Amino acid sequence: MKILIAEDDPVSRRLLEVFLCKWGYDVVVTCDGSEAWDVLQRPDAPNMVISDWMMPNVDGLELCRKIREIKKSDYTYFIILTAKERKEDVVKGLEAGADDFLIKPFHQEELKYRVQIGERIIELEHRILQLASTDSLTGVLNRKAFIERMEQEIHRSKRENSAFSLILSDIDYFKRVNDEYGHQVGDLVLQRFTEQLSKSSRPYDFIGRYGGEEFVVCLPGADE
Ligand SMILES: [Mg+2]
Repeated sequence: MKILIAEDDPVSRRLLEVFLCKWGYDVVVTCDGSEAWDVLQRPDAPNMVISDWMMPNVDGLELCRKIREIKKSDYTYFIILTAKERKEDVVKGLEAGADDFLIKPFHQEELKYRVQIGERIIELEHRILQLASTDSLTGVLNRKAFIERMEQEIHRSKRENSAFSLILSDIDYFKRVNDEYGHQVGDLVLQRFTEQLSKSSRPYDFIGRYGGEEFVVCLPGADE
C-alpha cells in the first residue's frame, strides 16, 4: 500500500520514511501541504496520508479539509501528527476530518499499529465499493456501476477525440431455459455467458449486466 507523508521537519520526515519502508509500505514523501495536495491530484494517489499539523504554505489541517471537500470515489485515510495535545486541538483536528492523531515525538510501535488500523479501514471500504458495484450472480458490473464507468468513457473519448463502442447483447429464448430446466440452470447459463464475454474481450473492455439476460460491453478505442 502507498502512503503519503507530508512533513516539513527533515528529521521526523526521514524517520517516518524509514519506518514505513521497513514495514513494507510504498512511501511518497513531501515537505508541505501544497506539495502533498499536488500528489493527491494524481490518478494513482495514495489512500493514506500521514501529515504534520504545522507546515508552511498549506498546513496539515487545511490539507485535510481540502481532501474532505473534494468528492473522491475512494476514501483517503488521514493521520495527523502533532505536538499539540490539548483537547481543543484534538477536537479541531477531528473537525477538519482527520481519522487519527499521533502525538510527536511518535512511538514507533504505536505508529505501526495505527497505520494498520487505517489499512483495515481502507480495505473494508474497497470491499464495500466492490460489492456495491458488481452483480452478485455473474460478477460483472451492475447497471449503475456500468453507466458510471461508461460516462467516464464518454468524457474520455470526447477529450481524446477517440472512438468507443458499445455492444448490447441479449440471450435469446432465455425464458425457456428457466421454464424447462429451472432457475438454477438459468443462473448457470448467465454465469457461463459472462465468462465467455470476459474471455473474448480485451483487458480494458468492461462488461455490465444491463437487465435480466441483457448484457452490455464497452470497448474503449474501438470504432465500428
Ligand atoms: Mg512542522
